[in-house]
Amino acid sequence: MFICLPVLLGCQTTVKPDGDLTPRVCPRCNNAAVQSAKTRTWFTLFFIPVVPLKSKRIWTCPICQWTMAVGQG
Ligand SMILES: [Zn+2]
Repeated sequence: MFICLPVLLGCQTTVKPDGDLTPRVCPRCNNAAVQSAKTRTWFTLFFIPVVPLKSKRIWTCPICQWTMAVGQG
């Protein structure tokens, strides 16, 4: 398990829109705003991302902040 030290070391997750930008209907707010995106968790040093730790593809809704990992139904 990772322990994140807030001052010099830490980890940070970035989200980037990825690939298929066709809007889909959000199951929570019912807006056709869901897009695929890619999240990447970085190991940070002095708040600068230096080492990519893991990445995964998700569905995300920018309106209600709903997210789901791609492949879960
Ligand atoms: Zn939504």
